[in-house]
Amino acid sequence: MSNIDLNKIWKYTSAKESKDHILLKEKYDLFINGEFVKSNSRVYFNSVNPANDEIIAKISEANKEDIDLAVKAANTAFKRWSNLKAKERAKYIFRIARMIQERAKEFAVIESMDCGKPIRESRDIDIPLAANHFFYYAGWADKLEYAFPNTKPEPLGVAGQIIPWNFPLLMAAWKIAPAIACGNTVVLKPAETTSLTALKLAEIIEESGLPKGVVNIVTGGEKTGSLIVNHPNIDKIAFTGSTKVGKLIKSSIAGTKKKLTLELGGKGANIIFEDAAIDQAVEGIINAIFFNQGHVCCAGSRLFVQESISEIVVEKLKDRISSLIIGDPLDKNTDIGAINSKEQLATIKNYIKIGTDEGGDIYQQECSIPETGNWCPPTLFLNVSQSHTIVKEEIFGPVLAIQTFRTIDEVIEKANNTPFGLSAGVWTEKGSKIFKLTKELNAGVVWANTYNKFDPTSPFGGLKESGIGREGGLQGLKAYLKFK
Ligand code: NAD
Repeated sequence: MSNIDLNKIWKYTSAKESKDHILLKEKYDLFINGEFVKSNSRVYFNSVNPANDEIIAKISEANKEDIDLAVKAANTAFKRWSNLKAKERAKYIFRIARMIQERAKEFAVIESMDCGKPIRESRDIDIPLAANHFFYYAGWADKLEYAFPNTKPEPLGVAGQIIPWNFPLLMAAWKIAPAIACGNTVVLKPAETTSLTALKLAEIIEESGLPKGVVNIVTGGEKTGSLIVNHPNIDKIAFTGSTKVGKLIKSSIAGTKKKLTLELGGKGANIIFEDAAIDQAVEGIINAIFFNQGHVCCAGSRLFVQESISEIVVEKLKDRISSLIIGDPLDKNTDIGAINSKEQLATIKNYIKIGTDEGGDIYQQECSIPETGNWCPPTLFLNVSQSHTIVKEEIFGPVLAIQTFRTIDEVIEKANNTPFGLSAGVWTEKGSKIFKLTKELNAGVVWANTYNKFDPTSPFGGLKESGIGREGGLQGLKAYLKFK
């Protein structure tokens, strides 16, 4: 293993993405019934760039009257939209997909500014995948009877959709595309720290000529979210966010006719066997936990390494994280951007403190971080066990808890010892081990010799406290249909 510190001998020249081509308003209103309208609350809050604390724009806080208007618009639009020929519905959705592609660069820059994620990720993953979701579901719009043969699929009505801040445009696409392809109408609320790309999407929707009221985008925080959840004229709630809020929503709509899908938290196990291709596995570990600063529901935040290779894997891992570049999300060299908010940074720091207080051995990359903004270096915890808080709870940051194992049955038991069940990764050269683990791991998604791969055609979702229902693929359509 080399002890050369690449950061000392080789500095990358900054390769900053330009902001010249982006158009942002100072203030954003609500998108209701096909147009931007002022909120009845007249209250605005700031959307802040987490990399430098600068205010990017002011965002409206929707109140009860606004949600009533948005739900009314969606209800009125439902009759016409659900009766429109399915291939006509598809045309609008294809158009939205193409318009996202045309403005992909603008969306990528705004997403990185608002979220803190590296431009490489928003440019190459978030925005293309968001467009692909619209393309994919546009294709299904007029084929629902083939997707579900011998049934008569019908839309549910108005869907209230609430999304988190880690993949803002992508989560909006996951929600809106299948819902409208099936003939539903939508009231969507982005997370309060990252409303901008959803509002830019509203501009595209307006330009696309989508009939008024089919998609309504309202902004605000927890209060606005609960107004949507509890609105009597909404037929379906689709929520992506924390398990804590998911449980709250489930109990508040219990006893109503509302349908529900929940995409919640996770604590993914990433399992490396001694017969794995080690260098590829190390890259896989890095991608599993440090992609999007670890703000990923399916992050591989619990690493299990077979004991015989644990020393070499940990050594290579430390070596690899010393070359990760932390800093300006708009710099194309950046691997790790800013933590999305001061609150989330405080949460992560608190978990790091708990990890050391409970006796874990911490290893952090030595690196210089910018003076303003929210930053956390990639962090490893060694010598932790199943009972450590940082092994049990979702941190949602760049913090990896490393444990070892000896046998396959031991690792299955350890990996399943969690209330979550969203994701897992398995690294081995042996197909039989992959089959055994994909069968026995209690996780909605299991990746083999890769991690964090997303595709609109494949369903995604959790077991246990990680959620109810699936998004993506055919299963993602089912969540927005009833069958006769
Ligand atoms: P959060 O639950 O705090 O907030 C999510 C959304 O819910 C936001 O829009 C928020 O304004 C809204 N909200 C908050 N309280 C509400 C309430 N009482 N009623 C209605 N709406 C309310 O989660 P977060 O911090 O924004 O996101 C991080 C969480 O999301 C993590 O736990 C992560 O694992 C999860 N997540 C899951 C998936 C998945 O597909 N399973 C994907 C991304 C994120």
